[in-house]
Amino acid sequence: MNELKLIGPLRQLLTMEALPLKGSLSDSQLQIVEQAGILISEGKILATGPFERLKNDYSKAELYELKGDHVCLPGFIDAHTHICFGGNRANDYALRNSGKTYLEIAKSGGGIWDTVTQTRKAGKAELIKKTTKLANRHLKTGVTTLEVKSGYGLSVDEEIKMLEVIKEANNTIPSDLIATCLAAHMFPKDYVGTKQEYLEELSTCLLPKIKEESLANRIDAFIEESAFTAEDIAPYFSSAKKLGFDITVHADQFTTGGSKVAVDFGAISADHLEASTNEEIKLLAQSNTIATALPGASLGLGCGFTPARKLLDAGATLAIASDHNPGSAPMGDLLTQAAILGAFEKLSNAEVLAGITIRAAAALNLKDRGKLAKGMLADFSLFHTNNYQEILYNQGNLKPCMVWKEGNLVFNKHKT
Ligand SMILES: [Zn+2]
Repeated sequence: MNELKLIGPLRQLLTMEALPLKGSLSDSQLQIVEQAGILISEGKILATGPFERLKNDYSKAELYELKGDHVCLPGFIDAHTHICFGGNRANDYALRNSGKTYLEIAKSGGGIWDTVTQTRKAGKAELIKKTTKLANRHLKTGVTTLEVKSGYGLSVDEEIKMLEVIKEANNTIPSDLIATCLAAHMFPKDYVGTKQEYLEELSTCLLPKIKEESLANRIDAFIEESAFTAEDIAPYFSSAKKLGFDITVHADQFTTGGSKVAVDFGAISADHLEASTNEEIKLLAQSNTIATALPGASLGLGCGFTPARKLLDAGATLAIASDHNPGSAPMGDLLTQAAILGAFEKLSNAEVLAGITIRAAAALNLKDRGKLAKGMLADFSLFHTNNYQEILYNQGNLKPCMVWKEGNLVFNKHKT
């Protein structure tokens, strides 16, 4: 017989069900089950509903009875991170805050290249340990699924090393790490050849190897003056698509152009968009490409936020991710950043919470999570409060007291 687990009573359970994928949302659209229970079988949700009723109907279920008020939300999904890296860039942060720009620091040998050097130097065991540590830190804040990019290897062998690290780290921790190949993060300084030759080498040597070893399903590129142009990237993305990879793009961070590339290639998501104008917003809204805001990068760089309100009003799908990385977004606290973006961009609770649950799942093309409904993974967090509004109101300072991943209690504040 299947082992059943029943958890409750929960003062409020937000299912995040029945929300449209695109456009603005009001809080009245949130489905809230009061005095709820959540019934789990084999890591998946079997039912949600009134706790007392579930307790009667499934009297043989192992009971996990809670005291006090708890609000239950789906496990958060951080759809854009770079948490696999060597070294750190505290010095860049200091330089930037004393007046140097991101591009100036990059040109003077700091920036991404510094992390590339440190990551290449690091052994696999060290990188696995670091990645695991950061993923576990996210887990305690309710993040049960994290996308993790390569992109600090920047050669066929070093990119494979990073993707293997992400795969091995994924096998040692409760949360799910979704790997993305970002070998087109920047043109490696030490590459003997042209940009086009580098991308050609990635297409012919790296991509088939990733497929063969099932290291990732997603290919990303940084479209920017300092990295790759739309023309540079077209043949690379065409090769990736032919091999069946999902495409995602670092788009419109400092200058526009990336979101058009994303839409043209049917990318799953276009991420950043701080520089997007009405033209790019319209383009994204009319496409199926999800717009992912990265408030952590705005906070890290001290610059404006992604025009999230305008994107939603235009009809785009908005996901929110941390961009956790050693350079521009060192904080790595999705809930805090999403709450702050909400305050600056005037987003409803529903829009912010959908952005880190159901809409973030869509940004990773994952159909088995992001909402609390029958058949979904039993990934969820409990917050000590009687009102879900208090979660964003506390701007990230109210953390979960319990986190469950696939039906297992993986973090319990009361027992640490
Ligand atoms: Zn990024």
